[in-house]
Amino acid sequence: MHESLMLINGQDVPIAASSGRTATIYSPSNQEPVALVAVGGRDEARKALEAARTAFPVWSTTACSRRADILHHAASLVRERSEAIARLLTLEQGKPLKNAKMEVLSSADVLDYYAEEGKRSFGEWIAGPKSRSIVMKQPIGVAALITPWNFPVDLLAWKVAPCLAAGCTFVAKPPSLAPLAATEFVRAVADAGLPAGAANVVHGSGDEVGSELVENPISRKIAFTGETATGRAIMASAAAHVKRISLELGGQSPFIVCEDADIKAAAASAAQRAFSNMGQICISVNRIYVAEEVAETFTEELVLRAELLKIGDGLLEDVDLGPMFSLKQRDKTKEHVSDALGKGADLLTGGREPEGEAFRKGYFFRPTVLSNANHRMMVMREETFGPVAPIMRFKMLEEAIALANDTEFGLAAYVFTSDLKTALRAAEGLEAGGIGVNVNNVVDLQAPFGGWKESGLGRELGRWGLESYLETKHIRLGM
Ligand code: NDP
Repeated sequence: MHESLMLINGQDVPIAASSGRTATIYSPSNQEPVALVAVGGRDEARKALEAARTAFPVWSTTACSRRADILHHAASLVRERSEAIARLLTLEQGKPLKNAKMEVLSSADVLDYYAEEGKRSFGEWIAGPKSRSIVMKQPIGVAALITPWNFPVDLLAWKVAPCLAAGCTFVAKPPSLAPLAATEFVRAVADAGLPAGAANVVHGSGDEVGSELVENPISRKIAFTGETATGRAIMASAAAHVKRISLELGGQSPFIVCEDADIKAAAASAAQRAFSNMGQICISVNRIYVAEEVAETFTEELVLRAELLKIGDGLLEDVDLGPMFSLKQRDKTKEHVSDALGKGADLLTGGREPEGEAFRKGYFFRPTVLSNANHRMMVMREETFGPVAPIMRFKMLEEAIALANDTEFGLAAYVFTSDLKTALRAAEGLEAGGIGVNVNNVVDLQAPFGGWKESGLGRELGRWGLESYLETKHIRLGM
């Protein structure tokens, strides 16, 4: 069985030398054990922070061209090891192997991107009448990188790559229930030639390891992706030392289908973004608002697409959807579906586990489409994080925009239309950090990603991601 060790100060921390605790990771497909994890506590978190602090002067003064070479090498190592890392990801998280591979390979692309972006961190020069001002950027220091289980490799890569490119060092805390692939990703990065202690991984609970990383004054920056409630607690605790924070939190993304949209394309896009990764995506399609005139055609097409998806163990070939991550996630999804049905929604497909021996032990659930949804339903107000697509009809675009904005979340929003003015009216009116017009994804490596309202603070990706690991300094020279 795979053993997942921590990485502290360039050393693998074997199970016996950690806090003495271990955890077993079970496959969500069949509840079979797949790995043994060395679990740390506050002590290991402190040791890792100290190692990152010691490595900081070395790494932050390494020439950015040399840092770029190491990050490119890290990307090659991740690619070389991608089969093994992806397999671990499927085993612990459940997603189909093809999606796990895409996730790992895309994390290598993020390393390559920031290898180059790190070279473009220039300062500014301001000439005054009696002085000259130099505005320079310097790395913040040690960063704590805390990530969730739904995209454990990618979401960590979004932090690791800009952090290192900026000259910061880090301690990563992967999710307790899915730490395997994330740990191997960091190991590959560390193997690329980083100074010992520049990249550390500590396993353990959010309460212990996560809290230590946030509270300890050694960390100067906290980059977190996870639930809004956890982000709120981290923000409060980081305030004690006025730490720099980036929070990528929950979402409740609306998807508006206008009368003039390409209905087949809209339905295909909605199905893909509502059901892939079993709806466990922060920018998943959570609520669909469709113009009355095209509602019937769109709904029929969406149901058809949902029923075509093949569900099964993620290690099997040709599977579109694996199991949900945990029993807790599936129970929450069931609760949201039954709440919606109790408040007047109609179940058009799904709404239950698939039948058969192959599905008996896993947390499988059929992609679900509901019609006649309204805003009293949990599925329209909370983040289900499950494969459910509730549909509500609208008459006027303004009404759809108001409904879309009727939420405390603001991560992503989508609109499908063939009219440019309608697209711009919707895009300008929607309250979210990313707007997809005729696309179902607002992630682009070169563009800013992040949330409005309670979906987060700060931006990842693009030059904005790098910026979030840098401090600004003004040097004024008297002439
Ligand atoms: P959680 O907030 O429960 O956990 C995220 C990470 O934080 C885990 O590593 C967790 O550790 C750790 N953690 C928990 N409590 C603390 C604490 N007090 N201090 C420090 N760290 C802590 O989120 P989930 O893992 O359940 O992930 C799902 C959520 O992530 C969803 O709400 C989803 O929307 C959001 N998400 C947001 C994205 C975005 O970019 N906006 C992208 C993807 C997901 P442990 O595992 O030990 O509990």
